Amino acid sequence: MREVVVAANWKMHTTPADAGALARTIAARTREPGVTRVICPPYVCLAAVGAALAEADADVAVGAQNVHHELAGAYTGEISAPMLAGLATWVIIGHSERRRDAAETDELIGQKLGRALEAGLRPILCVGEQLAEREAGLATEVVDRQLRGALAGRDPVATRTGGMVIAYEPVWAIGTGRNATGADAAAMADAIRTSVGALGWGDGASEIPVLYGGSVTSTNIDTFFAEPSIDGALVGGASLKPDEMAGIVARAGMTARARDLAG
Ligand code: PEP
Repeated sequence: MREVVVAANWKMHTTPADAGALARTIAARTREPGVTRVICPPYVCLAAVGAALAEADADVAVGAQNVHHELAGAYTGEISAPMLAGLATWVIIGHSERRRDAAETDELIGQKLGRALEAGLRPILCVGEQLAEREAGLATEVVDRQLRGALAGRDPVATRTGGMVIAYEPVWAIGTGRNATGADAAAMADAIRTSVGALGWGDGASEIPVLYGGSVTSTNIDTFFAEPSIDGALVGGASLKPDEMAGIVARAGMTARARDLAG
């Protein structure tokens, strides 16, 4: 039975002064047994969010939105995996906004993944195609290439026990209000498990949680959880709105209960 995960990517929103209160409100509005909740605020808000959640005794994990591929060195403005100790237990890796704005390559993303796992951080590895690539029928090929770049040569057992999840995030759906269909997202989740299986994971690939991300809201979340291949969501814009998160996590809770009953 795969874990059900809802992760909030706050991107470059909130400040240390207001992030804790927002995290506490979201935590209180999203209590659902069986759903792993993760909030990924900006680096400067990690401590405030962690403290607020601890004070509220909320079972919500804190994640970073990025991590550097080296442990330490002359990298002005960067944050390494060991620096996140005590601040985060998850980390988003390879988000398309970083692939676009920081020119992150699949190989670099693979190195970041390794650093995250070494430091005991659970990676949310993001993959997804551009609109032109989808329209050209290349979506699975692109995602397969991204997965091979990031995962080839990495020990499948260590990566799985390190708690990696994969987020399928079609680039054309991120922040655009245009989401993928549930069927398309499920087909991509299946393709992702096939690609990972071919990297030496074998049956272990079927155990990886695959999240969908891209303009998820409380209104369209049902489309994704209706698909057994989809195990959760990586939520951007809507994750800053407690009402939206309440609806999304409530739907995730239905899936978690159904999976629990199915055994
Ligand atoms: C994201 O940031 O990963 C994301 C999916 O954003 P949005 O939900 O706003 O499309």
